[in-house]
Amino acid sequence: MPPTDEEIAVPLGLDWPELREAIERLCAGFDGAYWQACDREGRYPEEFVGALAEAGYLGILIPETYGGAGLPLRAASVVLETIHARGCNAAACHAQMYIMGTLLRHGSEAQKRRWLPAIARGELRLQAFGITEPQSGSDTPALRTRARRKGNGWVVEGRKIWTSRALHSDLMLLLARTTPLERVERRSDGLSVFLVDLREARGKSVEIRPIRTMLNHHTTEIFIDGLELPGDALVGEEGRGFRYILDGMNAERILIASECIGDARWFLDRACAYARERVVFERPIGQNQGIQFPLARAFAETEAAELMVRKACALFDAGRLCGPEANMAKLLAADASWHAGEAAMQTHGGFAFACEYDIERKWRETRLYRIAPVSTNLVLAYLAHKVLGLPKSY
Ligand SMILES: Cc1cc2nc3c(=O)[nH]c(=O)nc-3n(C[C@H](O)[C@H](O)[C@H](O)COP(=O)(O)OP(=O)(O)OC[C@H]3O[C@@H](n4cnc5c(N)ncnc54)[C@H](O)[C@@H]3O)c2cc1C
Repeated sequence: MPPTDEEIAVPLGLDWPELREAIERLCAGFDGAYWQACDREGRYPEEFVGALAEAGYLGILIPETYGGAGLPLRAASVVLETIHARGCNAAACHAQMYIMGTLLRHGSEAQKRRWLPAIARGELRLQAFGITEPQSGSDTPALRTRARRKGNGWVVEGRKIWTSRALHSDLMLLLARTTPLERVERRSDGLSVFLVDLREARGKSVEIRPIRTMLNHHTTEIFIDGLELPGDALVGEEGRGFRYILDGMNAERILIASECIGDARWFLDRACAYARERVVFERPIGQNQGIQFPLARAFAETEAAELMVRKACALFDAGRLCGPEANMAKLLAADASWHAGEAAMQTHGGFAFACEYDIERKWRETRLYRIAPVSTNLVLAYLAHKVLGLPKSY
């Protein structure tokens, strides 16, 4: 007897159809023209982020005790995939979903009670995540931002780069060195995580400069000069910050991979529709295998990557280790969305360059995910070392 839909759904993970439909309805209010205008004017999609926050979607992973929906990561994955499959872009706010996890897992009860309910209600934004620095790049333990004790609190000096959404966030999670490199046993020791209230610090000890980029991402460079933090800004134990950040990275990779799956599906829908309609040499261009095959290959890659996303979600939600799966999901999904984007560009010919088709915008947006939040090479190096047991190369 063939398996029932329910039996198949278990290994594939729940699909949350009602959630998908609700997100589709919300996204219908933000069409291509809206995103084109934001992109053209370099404007933060305030209305879109506001609508998501108001409907509670940005607090979806916050437990009910702290005012959130308390749903599993798979639900967040469905939300982000759907946003991207509808041609929208969750990059303006996705970080809140996974940054919050660091506070939830490692923050004190007092910190959680103070911050999480307001974040869940959409009154406070925790959108900024300051890890990367100009000199250290992918080598996070080499970062130079220093936090020194002063009385019961801390003083921070340093510089961050690519801190996205810092100008649109109330709070920032910051990774800084609290014990100098030469005094720690392992390079990853001696780093600590702080929750910084940007509302108080912005324009004083924290200067935030936007970086113009090829996509509308609201990323910034941050100069920190004598930032005074209270003792309770420290999240978890001093010196264990790198581990806390690593803990959150699996969720980040899985959610970014979900966005890539959404992008890939959007590209494939648009490209196939265009290939069926566009007639050149008296036949639809989609009749040519040169057009069909890249689309078919990207479709197969997307389906395979989605299975890995679902597996990684299932492991994460079961509280199991999922580092390899989260990394593979990100790697495969970012490749699939890029290949689908390339196929969509080629299928649209010259019209791919016309902004009103949205192809070039999405193509620029999805390209990011082969570099950030972790580059493809670093994922491959992780798999080679941690899974295949090859000598460490980084
Ligand atoms: C638009 C945008 C938004 C971002 N948002 C944030 C954010 O909100 N918060 C934040 O902290 N960071 C953010 N980042 C930073 C992002 O995570 C980094 O750009 C990324 O991790 C790569 O670091 P890097 O740019 O310093 O590249 P580098 O580390 O300088 O690497 C450059 C290239 O060399 C390769 N490479 C380096 N070392 C090795 C090695 N050992 N083996 C093989 N290849 C290697 C890399 O894979 C990469 O391709 C953002 C970046 C961008 C572009």
